[in-house]
Amino acid sequence: MPEISRRARSLGTENAFVVLAEVNELARQGKDIISFCIGQPDFPAPQNVQEAAIRAIREGKHGYTPSAGIDELRDAAAAYLSRTRGGLPIRPADVVVAAGAKPFIAYAILSVTDHGAGDEVIYPNPGFPIYESQILASGARPVPIHLHEARGFAFDPDDLERLINPRTRLLILNTPHNPTGGLLSRGELEQIAAILKRHPQVWVYADEIYSRLVYGEAFFSIAQVPGMLERTIISDGASKTWAMTGWRIGFASNPLLAPLFTRWITNTESCASQISQWAAVEAINGPQDAAEKMKASFLARRDLIVRLLNEVPGVSCLVPGGAFYVWPNVTEACRMIGAADSEAFRKRLLSEAGVALLADIHFGSRVPGEGQHVRFSYAASKEAIEKGVARMAAFIRKNTQKAA
Ligand code: PMP
Repeated sequence: MPEISRRARSLGTENAFVVLAEVNELARQGKDIISFCIGQPDFPAPQNVQEAAIRAIREGKHGYTPSAGIDELRDAAAAYLSRTRGGLPIRPADVVVAAGAKPFIAYAILSVTDHGAGDEVIYPNPGFPIYESQILASGARPVPIHLHEARGFAFDPDDLERLINPRTRLLILNTPHNPTGGLLSRGELEQIAAILKRHPQVWVYADEIYSRLVYGEAFFSIAQVPGMLERTIISDGASKTWAMTGWRIGFASNPLLAPLFTRWITNTESCASQISQWAAVEAINGPQDAAEKMKASFLARRDLIVRLLNEVPGVSCLVPGGAFYVWPNVTEACRMIGAADSEAFRKRLLSEAGVALLADIHFGSRVPGEGQHVRFSYAASKEAIEKGVARMAAFIRKNTQKAA
């Protein structure tokens, strides 16, 4: 038999999709499941965006485009990245469009590390699982940096200093953050930039896909710190801001790497869907009412779920600054019901109470001393949030009584 490569055999995945399959199977068996698993807005794409896509099809704008994207979208995205990040001088030539923001994770790693050369990439743990998976698949060395609840799920800058060495090629930052909803403040980003100043060989991948879902303080990008723009890859896209996950439009900017990203795209996707690209031009340049309404609704639901979770026995939940995730600490709840860890807790909650969550182990290895966490995506209806959290509370109460 021909063999499968070690690379393919060891390829990681997004466990959200694995749990989702589990949930769908239970739902198919007729079980009543309330799911907080999926990381996408529960809204349709805005009407004006839908119409722009239909118009593109009708007008015959549905063939291949240049690999970097249509000029109209590169112009729109450059102006957008600039105005949402303190007027940074971002030119259309610096911006490349792909089928979602996700592909840029691989393109960035592949563009700044060499296979088997001992090149290292530092990435947040917990974090979006594709970072680690793509670092490994590309043949670079993954170096997780731990996030701490006491810091609002930021890392300790001293840890960064300690983890950087001459082989470090890339630092991945994600703010607002999946899975914790944590936000890196301007002060924290300035501190990180000050450390990086002493290590000029390190690129930054700024995963800012949730940049428009920031509640309270204004969004700030590390690229806005003087001296950081040239070495930062800014990644953003249409998925979360305009509820366009399945349309597959992301964009990344960096003056030096844009031509390389374009070449990767020619080698893989050829280009993003032209139809979606025209829709994204409308999403960026058209009225923002739908996006603003969505954000307001996420904020209301964040406040609701945080309040309700903090009333659940054995659960404590920080107020996250962005995205649509909460990352409650369930260490005590696990102890109360006799669950060995967050994953055992998650499994029992799903099978015994019909509430679907993701556990911390789906986002990396558990950080020592930080206890047990689960992730709720609160892109769910108010009713689902109320009912789901009530089920969780009842489940913990019932099983605590049994244990006692
Ligand atoms: N980065 C993070 C942190 C994400 O959570 C996601 C989507 N879940 C992405 C990137 C990818 O988004 P896209 O749909 O644009 O590929």
